[in-house]
This record gives sequence, C-alpha cells and structure tokens, in this order.
Amino acid sequence: MFKKILIANRGEIALRVICACKELGIRTVAIYSEADRHSLPVRFADEAICIGPPQLALSYLNIPAVISAAEIANVDAIHPGYGLLAENANFAEVCDTSGIKFIGPQPDVMRLMGEKEKARSAMKKAGVPILPGSDGIIASDGEAVEWAKQVGFPVIVKASAGGGGRGMRIVRSEEELPGLFKAAQAEAAGAFGNGDLYMEKYVEHPRHIEFQVLADEHGNVVSLGERECSIQRRHQKLLEESPSTQVTPQLRDEIGAVLCKSLTEIGYTNAGTIEFLMDQERRLHFIEMNTRIQVEHPVTEMVTDVDLVKSQIMIAAGAPMSEVLQGPIVHRGHAIECRINAEHPEKFTPSAGKITAFHPPGGTGVRVDTAAYTEGVIPPYYDSLIAKLIVRGKDRGEAVSRMTRALEMFIVEGVYTTIPLHRKILADPDFRAGKFDTGFIERFLAAGKKDTSA
Ligand code: ADP
Repeated sequence: MFKKILIANRGEIALRVICACKELGIRTVAIYSEADRHSLPVRFADEAICIGPPQLALSYLNIPAVISAAEIANVDAIHPGYGLLAENANFAEVCDTSGIKFIGPQPDVMRLMGEKEKARSAMKKAGVPILPGSDGIIASDGEAVEWAKQVGFPVIVKASAGGGGRGMRIVRSEEELPGLFKAAQAEAAGAFGNGDLYMEKYVEHPRHIEFQVLADEHGNVVSLGERECSIQRRHQKLLEESPSTQVTPQLRDEIGAVLCKSLTEIGYTNAGTIEFLMDQERRLHFIEMNTRIQVEHPVTEMVTDVDLVKSQIMIAAGAPMSEVLQGPIVHRGHAIECRINAEHPEKFTPSAGKITAFHPPGGTGVRVDTAAYTEGVIPPYYDSLIAKLIVRGKDRGEAVSRMTRALEMFIVEGVYTTIPLHRKILADPDFRAGKFDTGFIERFLAAGKKDTSA
C-alpha cells in the first residue's frame, strides 16, 4: 500500500480524499493556493505545500508546480479528485514518468475516452447502445446535412473535445444547420483548441442516467448500479439520486453486464462513470464517459456501502477486486444528494465572501461533505460548490422527507445558497412522483416557482 499521497485538488473533494487516506493509514499532502491558506484540507492533511497565487492556471492547474510539490514531499501517488487535472492525460503521463502513481486510468485510455467521438465508436464496437449519429468527425456543413437527413431531425451537433455543454447545438431543421454547425465549430475551437464536431440524434425529454464502475488492474470490472441526474440547470447537475425510479433490476443487470465486458476489452482501470440518456421508451443510449471520481459519488456509496475513494486508492496500489470489495454488491434503500452552491438564487451567479454562520444538519441517515466553516471565506476564483448534503432512507419516500428536514436544518449565512431552491424542488409534486426529465428545472423556474425567499 502507498505510504503517502498528494491530493491535487481543493475544497470538499480534497477533504474527502484525506478522510479515505486517514482510514487506510496513509499520510497526506495537501497543496493549496494563497487563497486557500486557511482551508480545512490544509488543516487536516499531514503536510501542506503552497503552490502559487489564487489563479487556477498558476496554482492547481500548474503541472510543474504540482509535480515539484509531489517530489519535495516524496509521495508515492497523486489523487486528482474531480475537475482541475483529473481528466488531463498529459498530467497522468507526467506522473508516470516522474515515478508517481496517478490514481486513475492509464493515460492512453483517458485520452480515448476524453475524445467523445472516439469514445462513442469504441463503446459501439464493444456492444454498448449508442444514439444514431455520424460515423466519425463531420468535415463540413454539407456533410452535416447529409448525416442529419440520414439520422432524421432533430439532431445535436457536439464537440468531440467537449465539456460543460460548450460546442453543442440542437438543430431542428435543414435550413438552420449550416449556421449552427459553424457556430458550434467556432465555439469548440475557441474553448478547446479543437473544432472537431460529430452529430447525434437529439432525444426529446430525456433523463440523464449514469452507471458507476470500478475496474481493478487485473481485468476485473464491476458495476455499482446507476445514479439519476436529470435535475440539471444549464447542463449542470443540481440534485442526484440512486436508484433511478426508471431503471428496473433487469435493465440494471443488463447494462451492468455490457459495461463490464466492454470496459474489460478497452482496458479500463480504476473508477469511472458511463453517462447515458434515457428516451421516453426507457431505452438507454451512451453519451460519454468520465474517467474520474464524480461529484455525486456519495449517493452510490450510501446505497452500496462501498467507499469509492478508498477503492480507487486500493486499486491503484494493485489490490484485486476481491480484496477491494470483500463480497458482492448489495443495493439497500434510496439516497439523494443536493449540491449546495454559493450562488445568487435568481441570477445564478457565484456568491463569494465570508460565511458568517455555518451549521450542517445531522441525525440518522444524513451525510454532509464540505470544507466550509463559520468565518471561512469562499474565494471568487473557484467553483461555487460549498457542500453536498446526502441522505439515505429505506425507500425514496423516506429519503425525500429526510432531505426535506435536513435542508430545513442547514444554516448558511453570509452568502446566498441553493438551499431555498432545493427546498422548493423537494416539495414539488412532480419531483415527489418521480416525474421529470432534463428540462424539469427550466420548466419549474419558468412556471414561476422560482425562489425569492433567500
Ligand atoms: P458535456 O460533456 O458538454 O457535459 P454531454 O454529452 O455530457 O456534454 O451532454 C450534457 C447534457 O446535454 C446531457 O446531460 C443532456 O442534458 C444534454 N444532451 C447531450 N446529448 C444529447 C442528445 N443527444 N439529446 C438530448 N440531450 C442531449
């Protein structure tokens, strides 16, 4: 097992990794920017190294600075968390050449899955259901029209290097295709330095459902079931749950089996998430894979009792799946996570500043993953997630009422948060009935249910 791990991240996920390391008896090294000097990861890690000024490019995304810190602290491995360098194959490669184990998949597999069009082809070849679309990159708007006619409108044009919803356009007719194609190309080239586009059938009113997998370095892959992530705002997830009300045990087993087979073939290792869209006939279609731990991983942990971060570390240290899991995966009860972001309730802009009071809820079945505290400062340089409130109940009904009371008992003062919005979602009859798709929040806000009480 590793003796010392550097955590190349900040905030709640850095603290989450520190928790796993402490339980495994591994020493930890936090890295931090000047803006995070008084953060909890710095306080709870065994060692902490300042790697630069607040700006991301000069600190958390500065690969030479991160590697130098790892070398100075003499660590065996680096955990990248999510975001930042977590899906940067070059970073994983530099770790390898520096003799430091990157806790994640191999760089070549990360690269394959990171190019969405290539990932689509690889998954199709391995037998995973994908949406009808173009075979490969589309070279011109003329070719785009040909494909769209074959696939049938509406279609969605997507950037192969995409992420965060950029370089993506929904196209409903032939007339608007050339203009939207060029706009997506320019946006992708600007955002990713790569304007390659591909095309998929657009699914009306889909649900976003994703599967969590673990793969050891000896060819064993297991599926830990699904998470329902359809409650999104501008393609950003806000609330997640497991299991999904739409996935039957049979569908869960079928997709799980296909994924285990295909990821073994691809040579995938460590934790990963395979994202699908579910159409109105309840069929699942692959859209992309994330080659890292996800923000929403706790809902899977709550229903399976598997510690995913500890599993990642054990896998990277070479442990076989039998040792990592110590038994079959059993799903129990229902879990829900609400992302508590520090943001203005109407403008949805980040609300940085000092937290003047912070009291997280507790009690049976409640978990809070956070690095926030009273008098702590939320810097303006990073994302706005300040806490994840997760509950587990014996069934969805109990999870909903537990989340409702936990939100009521969560005190955050000094900054605006999404707590009032979550309280409204939890009270919504359609949400309670499990009737929603990825357009739920937009319709919910447009219907005047928007929160004004914060
Ligand atoms: P990104 O990597 O930019 O986040 P994704 O491919 O993961 O892009 O898609 C993000 C979201 O966009 C999905 O969760 C879904 O809401 C919507 N979306 C993507 N592809 C389609 C599609 N073919 N049909 C309908 N909605 C889609």
